[in-house]
Amino acid sequence: MTPHGGHLSLVKPISVDARRYRAVTRSNISRTRHWSKIPPRLQEALQVVSTVLPFRTNEYVMEKLIDWDRLPEDPIYQLTFLQPGMLRTDDYNHMAHLVKSGGSRAQLKQAADTIRLRLNPHPAGQMTLNVPRLNGHPVPGLQHKYRETVLLFPSQGQTCHAYCSFCFRWAQFVGIGDIKFQTQETTPLVGYLQQHTEVSDVLVTGGDPLVMRTEALRRYLTPLLSPTLAHIQNIRLGTKSVAYWPYRYVTDPDADALLRLFEEVVNSGRHLAVMAHYNHPRELQTKVAQEAIRRIRSTGAVVRTQSPIIRHVNDDPDVWAELWRTCVKLGVVPYYMFVERDTGPHGYFELPLVRAWEIFRRAYQQVSGLARSVRGPVMSASPGKVMIDGVSEVGGEQVLSLQFLQARDPSWVRRPFFARYNSEACWLTELQPAFGDRFFFERARQPSVRGDLVSVRLRR
Ligand SMILES: *Cc1c(COP(=O)(O)O)cnc(C)c1O
Ligand code: SF4
Repeated sequence: MTPHGGHLSLVKPISVDARRYRAVTRSNISRTRHWSKIPPRLQEALQVVSTVLPFRTNEYVMEKLIDWDRLPEDPIYQLTFLQPGMLRTDDYNHMAHLVKSGGSRAQLKQAADTIRLRLNPHPAGQMTLNVPRLNGHPVPGLQHKYRETVLLFPSQGQTCHAYCSFCFRWAQFVGIGDIKFQTQETTPLVGYLQQHTEVSDVLVTGGDPLVMRTEALRRYLTPLLSPTLAHIQNIRLGTKSVAYWPYRYVTDPDADALLRLFEEVVNSGRHLAVMAHYNHPRELQTKVAQEAIRRIRSTGAVVRTQSPIIRHVNDDPDVWAELWRTCVKLGVVPYYMFVERDTGPHGYFELPLVRAWEIFRRAYQQVSGLARSVRGPVMSASPGKVMIDGVSEVGGEQVLSLQFLQARDPSWVRRPFFARYNSEACWLTELQPAFGDRFFFERARQPSVRGDLVSVRLRR
């Protein structure tokens, strides 16, 4: 292919081999050459747990990212392969029995669905609470929670090049999700945005929108560049492809076309941000991963990085410091460190908020100001994005200091509030107000059905 229009950036690098993407799943994993490197106990766990939770990886992840001599602790193995501890022991044994005794597909599905429904498949009412309406009708595939930013879920972008074992979208991948996806029909999307001039940002998300071919992505992006949508200033693409399939930007057949699409967005005078999901510095160490970043940046797009803190994968300050340092060096701007949501096998991955804050702080202390653009740890909770500022003492009492970075009600943002110190709490709903009987953004607190939690009633 000839490089077009004198863009040096689009010259194919010679050092990176082209690869064809092929998903590795429950049904073909045992035919890969890596299968024999997995100890029998872990092979069994994979077969059993993947009846309940989604499993998908690919040859790039297996060949270039996983260190097979370090199973099961290897962080990238933990990130994409399902582990024995992800199901409750009784659930695991039940499914293992069904698998070994050759249970029918229907039997497996019924048993799996029973377990799935107990794993809080739809956390924080994300999908039902924030669907916007146009002329009285819901606009499928959109979420509008924060005044200036609309999320867009294209229908063809609802899978990923590999699945993260902690992913809060797991329910969607096993077919019990509740998102109504955007069809290829973008008229309602454009109609909605035309009526909402307060929106400056559209965040295209998934799954992973970069599993879409360039032409499919173009059908969503081009309408956003229309002069009637001049208020849409920033377009973000949330993606893990830079880590799981960097060939998307380098050697895939439509990689150059993708970069040209990025240039078109930038040339329209808008900011294009690739919100790159990196969990571990190893994902940035391969040649092709670095080449992907270089090529994206050469279009004028900005790459930012955000990802959750997860036990077994990146619960170590040195790992985060290295991640952020590597990012800054490659021109990737650190953005958020998230707290993993309370869904799926979160018992396996979660960390107490206090521990997450300690790791954040010890990582932050190690890096220069250029990496301190990162904020966290942040919970993307029902009332908004809540950042844990840290442990402090007020009037002789130990407290957790928190604040909203984003909120349903913009007036809540950056107003410090305090929770009683709790070394075990892993989510906002497990915290109690330090002073008074409710947090300022709650109308009332009531015991929830689970008894151990309190449900948060929003003022609006
Ligand atoms: C995180 C998030 C956004 C974007 O928030 P920023 O702080 O602007 O990055 C928008 N909508 C929803 C629902 C979100 O969770
Ligand atoms: S890439 Fe993103 S959406 Fe896909 S499985 Fe991982 S966290 Fe979930």
